[in-house]
Amino acid sequence: MITSTTGPQPADFADVRATNLAVVLRFVREHAPCSRADIAASTGLNKATVSSLVADLIDRRLVRETGLTENRVGRPATMLVLDGSPYAAIGVEINIDYVSAVAVDLAGERLLTWRRSFSSGESVNQGVAGVGAIIRRVVNRMAKEERQILGLAVAVPGLVDVQGTVRLAPNLGWRDADIGGDLAKALRDPGFPIQVDNDANLGALAEQRFGAHAGASDLVYLTGEVGVGAGIILDGRLRRGGRGYSGEIGHVQLDPDGPECHCGRRGCLEVMAGIGAVLGKDPSPGEIQVEIEESVRLARAGDAGTLATLESAGRSLGRGVSVLANLLNPELVILGGYYVPLAPWLLPAVQGELGGRVIASEAGGCRVVASTLGHDAAALGGAARVLDSVDSGRLPGGLSRIP
Ligand SMILES: [Zn+2]
Repeated sequence: MITSTTGPQPADFADVRATNLAVVLRFVREHAPCSRADIAASTGLNKATVSSLVADLIDRRLVRETGLTENRVGRPATMLVLDGSPYAAIGVEINIDYVSAVAVDLAGERLLTWRRSFSSGESVNQGVAGVGAIIRRVVNRMAKEERQILGLAVAVPGLVDVQGTVRLAPNLGWRDADIGGDLAKALRDPGFPIQVDNDANLGALAEQRFGAHAGASDLVYLTGEVGVGAGIILDGRLRRGGRGYSGEIGHVQLDPDGPECHCGRRGCLEVMAGIGAVLGKDPSPGEIQVEIEESVRLARAGDAGTLATLESAGRSLGRGVSVLANLLNPELVILGGYYVPLAPWLLPAVQGELGGRVIASEAGGCRVVASTLGHDAAALGGAARVLDSVDSGRLPGGLSRIP
């Protein structure tokens, strides 16, 4: 913490203060209820600084005092918790036949979960208009609850560059589309940041923050929708690659003589272990959920054909997961989307392949599990990305207390 006014420029001071505010906010998120003394002891910031930072966070209604006290060495302390009530973070997932929307408060408590059928339409404009209408209803609902929107992040199944432009979303028919800019216009410049990201990336962020294995620092999330993409978190951070296109595991070739993939190549993981392979036939848009449920029913009933199809798709999936395990050594590979209900039949085949294909013993410690977040994962990850921005210092409200 800088205490002298003669040294750095005000901009530097604001940066340091924003950073320290974020440090305190993250501490409260992880340790609430906690006292100002706890924060000082753990962060190394001095007590006066912590008091000033906490006062600022209370002003911004990011943190509040509770009536609780902690009796330690005879000195009671006022305890602090996150104040979720004035804010909402919104995540939206656009997929081939549905749009999911999720809103959470600052503490990550779920405020809203919607899933609406959707058609990407004839053009990007039509698709954006449809998504924009759904988002507007979410925003209005939050406004009715008198919540300020911290931000919106939108998940798209496709290549999204680091600037957030959708370069290629084949299943939606979108190419070089500034979806964030288009949505801002559709929402009439709503005054909150709009980010666009790949669905697998956001699924991974959702797992990291909200999943059954939250806090894992090395995990890969596989989408398991019509496309199969990987969101990669290593050393605690999402890894997008140079231009943002990492994780296209769906188009890693498993068999040069395999069936043709919609990308024009042959034997891609997506065509050998995606929804079509899992169902044993091309999925019917709008009916995939029903078809998956039927597959689950048949597998439960011991139908030999269904079990053989799932085993074969599971083995192909296992070959893809082995590539990830050899290359990235994740502690977890999390199967999402339509893989989840079929996981009891897919996982044994996946694990079997890992054992034989990963050079490190015990598959390098890699465990393959089913997501517990269901089809909301990417939308929830959008909300997680907004909370990540706040936690890293992009706080709502002005820096009113800078002297
Ligand atoms: Zn392909």
